[in-house]
Amino acid sequence: MTAAMDHFLYRDGALFAEDVPVAEIAATVGTPFYLYSTATLLRHFRLFDEALDGLPHLVCYAMKAASNQAILKTLAEAGAGMDVVSGGEYARAVAAGVPGERIVFSGVGKTRDEIRTALTGGIRQFNVESEPEMEVISEIATALDMTAPITIRVNPDVDAQTHAKIATGKSENKFGIPISRAREVYALAAALPGIEVIGIDVHIGSQLTQLEPFRQAYAKVAELTEVLRADGHDIRRLDLGGGLGIPYARSNAAPPLPVEYGRMIKDTVGHLGCEIEIEPGRLIAGNAGILVSKVIYLKQGEDRQFLILDAAMNDLIRPAMYDAWHEIVPLREPEPGVEQTPHDIVGPVCETGDTFAKARMMPPLKAGDLVAFRSAGAYGAVMASEYNTRPLVPEVLVRDDKFAVIRARPTFDEIINRDTIPPWL
Ligand SMILES: *Cc1c(COP(=O)(O)O)cnc(C)c1O
Repeated sequence: MTAAMDHFLYRDGALFAEDVPVAEIAATVGTPFYLYSTATLLRHFRLFDEALDGLPHLVCYAMKAASNQAILKTLAEAGAGMDVVSGGEYARAVAAGVPGERIVFSGVGKTRDEIRTALTGGIRQFNVESEPEMEVISEIATALDMTAPITIRVNPDVDAQTHAKIATGKSENKFGIPISRAREVYALAAALPGIEVIGIDVHIGSQLTQLEPFRQAYAKVAELTEVLRADGHDIRRLDLGGGLGIPYARSNAAPPLPVEYGRMIKDTVGHLGCEIEIEPGRLIAGNAGILVSKVIYLKQGEDRQFLILDAAMNDLIRPAMYDAWHEIVPLREPEPGVEQTPHDIVGPVCETGDTFAKARMMPPLKAGDLVAFRSAGAYGAVMASEYNTRPLVPEVLVRDDKFAVIRARPTFDEIINRDTIPPWL
């Protein structure tokens, strides 16, 4: 078994999500829509949880990857904590029934309102990213007669060797404080009345496909732990961030498995007696979701064949934004040996960037056929918009032989009625 294993498989030539034919869901819900598998979500959460067996730990799902209430509830009931990066995500976690002591608040720009809400509602810790933020948290906590537990996010200056837009651990990135200044900043934190420093936080980027950058970062954190303890700080919790990558293409070398990642964590920081937190997002949700779409037209260009889908960049922005590669498969399994030909696979939006794949080898398809984008569960639906007044793409969750719409497609009236007309019009 690999981390790539999911529950979207062909059975008798038809793509299933667990025990439900995907085409049956499409007939009920209409396309495009996101579809998630409960079994895959839980499997991935448990792989991380088991990888840290033997260490006191909490797996805090980075909910920015996919934050539907039903997904959060599924993971929270399995024991997951949540990593939130905004007041909205904090509210979502609370609404899904996650207790404050299992919610970690990350992010470089927490506002006063967000800090106050989390303090009064309950929070496991703030992962602080700057000195001004530290002072604001202290001030607000003091005014509330509280003490805020914090870690400080250090920037270890390691190259995560991932896409530049999702690398966060180099000194030129906006995240955290330079690890070289950590002693100074921890001393400042210790002197502030409203906060209690309990640990160290690090997160070096997303879609990492090798362990080495993590190992370098965690080794630096281990060293820093000893230094800070010698300075008198009670470092008892290490938040090691998220970022473990997933296999998007079957042909590429598979990224390390959670169990290997866990072993490396034990090697680098296991001896310190700290409670360990990790914040995986993509690896839990990524391969637990697909985007289902319908072919609208096949169009012969001068030198290429276009496959025009009813999904577009507003529904799945990863190809346009990160040059991401998604496997695209027909819901009806191609006959063995059928000829595949190159297609440019595009959406209907009026931008050339609305291109999902170029010269992708595909079996013969015709208008009305259904396809699925695999590995679309993370950073898919959450980044969707209503650009071109295309209704926000719905979400569906499968469990065994059941499925439920977990976010309905808005009607045009609902979209239009969100606007309000000023009195002078
Ligand atoms: C985005 C993010 C994560 C999750 O990253 P994945 O690559 O989805 O695992 C975790 N922690 C922080 C602070 C983040 O910003």
